[in-house]
Amino acid sequence: MKIVSVIVDLPTRQTDQPFTYILPDDLRQDDYIGCRVIVPFGNRRLLGYIVADAELDDQKKDMQLKEIESLIDQKPILDQQSLELSSWLAKAVFSYRVQVIQSMLPNAYKAKYLKRLRMADNVDDPKLKELFAGQDQIDFSPKKYSSEQLKEIRSFIKKGMVIPVSTIGRRDQQKKILVYENRLAEQEIKELAIKNRTSAQQKKLLNFLNGNQHGFFTKKEISEIASVSPAVIKRAADKGWLEESYQRLDRDPLKEINPHKSFSLHLNDQQQAVYDKVEQAIVDKKNKTFLLEGITGSGKTEIYLQLIQKTIDLGRGAILLVPEISLTPQMIDRVKSRFAQKIALIHSGLSDGQRMDQWQEILDKKIRIVIGTRSAIFAPVADLGLIIIDEEHESNYKQEDNPRYSAKQVALWRSDHSGAAVLLGSATPSLESRARAEKGIYELLKIDKRAVSGSLLPKVKIIDMRQNWQKEHSDSDFSPELLDQIKKNKQDGQQTILLLNRRGFSSFLMCRNCGFVPHCPNCNLSLTLHLDSHSLKCHYCGYQEPIPKVCPICSSNKIRYVGTGTEKVERRLQQLLPELRIVRLDQDSTKKKGSLQKYLNDFSKMKYDVMVGTQIVAKGLDFPKVTLVGVINADTALNLPDYRAEEKTFQLLTQVAGRSGRSKRPGQVIIQSYNPDNYAISLAAEQNYEKFFRTEMHYRHLADYSPYFFIAQISVNGPDQFAAGQAIEKVAEFVKPRLDKKTIVLGPTPKAIARLDNRYYFQMIIKYKRDPNLDPTLNQLQEHFSLQLPANIYLSIDKDPVSFI
Ligand code: ADP
Ligand code: ZN
Ligand code: ZN
Repeated sequence: MKIVSVIVDLPTRQTDQPFTYILPDDLRQDDYIGCRVIVPFGNRRLLGYIVADAELDDQKKDMQLKEIESLIDQKPILDQQSLELSSWLAKAVFSYRVQVIQSMLPNAYKAKYLKRLRMADNVDDPKLKELFAGQDQIDFSPKKYSSEQLKEIRSFIKKGMVIPVSTIGRRDQQKKILVYENRLAEQEIKELAIKNRTSAQQKKLLNFLNGNQHGFFTKKEISEIASVSPAVIKRAADKGWLEESYQRLDRDPLKEINPHKSFSLHLNDQQQAVYDKVEQAIVDKKNKTFLLEGITGSGKTEIYLQLIQKTIDLGRGAILLVPEISLTPQMIDRVKSRFAQKIALIHSGLSDGQRMDQWQEILDKKIRIVIGTRSAIFAPVADLGLIIIDEEHESNYKQEDNPRYSAKQVALWRSDHSGAAVLLGSATPSLESRARAEKGIYELLKIDKRAVSGSLLPKVKIIDMRQNWQKEHSDSDFSPELLDQIKKNKQDGQQTILLLNRRGFSSFLMCRNCGFVPHCPNCNLSLTLHLDSHSLKCHYCGYQEPIPKVCPICSSNKIRYVGTGTEKVERRLQQLLPELRIVRLDQDSTKKKGSLQKYLNDFSKMKYDVMVGTQIVAKGLDFPKVTLVGVINADTALNLPDYRAEEKTFQLLTQVAGRSGRSKRPGQVIIQSYNPDNYAISLAAEQNYEKFFRTEMHYRHLADYSPYFFIAQISVNGPDQFAAGQAIEKVAEFVKPRLDKKTIVLGPTPKAIARLDNRYYFQMIIKYKRDPNLDPTLNQLQEHFSLQLPANIYLSIDKDPVSFI
């Protein structure tokens, strides 16, 4: 008998602690820490995770300890480091440990709680017999029943004739499905088909069998193809025409596009210097963090690949994080073609089964290289030697909902615990990382020239859209100069990328007669016009409605489209220059699986001259024929109520500019702006990161923002505006007096988007440098104070939030 600590699958404040259980001898196996178990908890059964051995102290001796009911895993699915990490991270991000564990693990390991109904003994009721159809227990999902039936079931439960039971289903078992196979010989089919006693439906089925004598079919397939009712199929099985069996539903194999083998390039001097520094740290098993500030096209990826190779050669494991897999298909190809061994590619597009298979193979050390988005930082890679975070400035490395962790924070923790080197790479590092490098916390490494010899950074020109020509043609998205260059570029056989950071056709709709603007009923934000789908859409909650023909307020038909979007730019450009072949890339045009990949492929094969798109086109793409990049409106991000607006604008413009002239032919960039004097835009045009860094640091210093101050955000939301407002006031009353005098508290105020999907949002911002009272206060806020809030009001605490909207 063993005593163990178990974290149970019940994410509440009261249950956020390990519970002690007995692991009975008949369940003992060599490794049980890190395994899932099923435990009795109160009057139900829950999934749990064994996190440690426990001691029997005097207090527990007196308690009746319960026994673990079953052990699910034959070997641990969480290694020691993951267990320690989950404990630390839960505290660091004000989350429950079970929630952290579940975000680390692939979904398939989660429990599925099934509701079932059991008939009480000695019950003899015809209605119940019908309901249970001869079985002792049935699955209960209310959707399957009419409201009449549900009422009946409830009354049976009340009378004690039916007993609800809940069981824990597993998602990680291989799914098997019921299939049918033909049992009749060809001759038999023919004979049966002409018999008088054979019904018309049965004849249809026999006809189907005649054409499909071999192979397995689901009931649904047969009933659809042969157009017969499921009952006919069931009866045919009873008669022995068909054989029923359960077959494994095969998981989609990863479509391996592993085209060619690629070889290491000979590094140039700057690349080599970077490589040497990081390699030394890997060899020395140092938990050192490097910041690589390398201009676009400076060959950062090549350095990553060679460092990963080195790590593997030393027998250690490596993780490479990218902001979004779909935006980096070229990078993935390069990685895959470089390494002979199997690589795990972890991203949201995988099925639950695929993710679980990869997790197992990483645990078993069959896979030593992991590439993926944010959550790949949790991959249980043993003896980790190197973690690379590419485009380290990207905000997707932070998860916006619970648990609000940042992959960077986890990377640094794992580096400390494994002696792994961390390499953060970007052409435009976040101010926080760059400031840390300034202070010597990270080691700064720089590359200031492009890797392809002869390739230079492109020339950038800013067009002032306030000038006279634009005033007269205020509805035009194209300055004559940009249009001219697009035309010329096509004549030269080159390609163009156009960036516009807004999807749809026009930003909003307005009635010229009365000024009415349609708004989302859930969020109160103006709706965007989409001509493709003939609808008005809310970009925040997804609400849609048809485009009105007349104004719903004054019935006038003078409806005007205001502002612009990718759809409009595409159509307008096609009208102006009909000879162009244009492809549009945005959330709407790439919704279909595989379509983004196809558009990118076709573009690289020169099937298009121009690519118009949102941020998708700004990042990571490497097309040698692109020598012109145009930014339709550089100002969209500047007006957001966020202290990082300039930083985000600078990053986006620098990134998109970097798509131009990546090969030998010089590139150019044209930026259209209504704020050409804004430093974020003018310095992006100069592609002068260092100067931007100094300037922006100065402003952040004046305004007491990050990196000079740390920021924590407390927000509250609820369906009732008044109640949510009262709640945040109470939070403020609780928090403010407890904090250090030097800590600054802003608000509480409604958020910039105050209503979203019918919930009202309020926030307060805490700016602090070193405040010993902060963490204890926030802990108390979450552990005790939050229990006093009404149930439908949610409180969240976010350190280093990425967005304030
Ligand atoms: P970054 O990731 O910094 O934007 P990439 O790694 O994509 O840059 O490199 C840009 C281009 O330079 C790629 O086409 C790559 O093949 C090429 N390249 C990288 N390193 C070298 C090198 N040492 N010699 C020649 N070409 C290189
Ligand atoms: Zn009107
Ligand atoms: Zn909405």
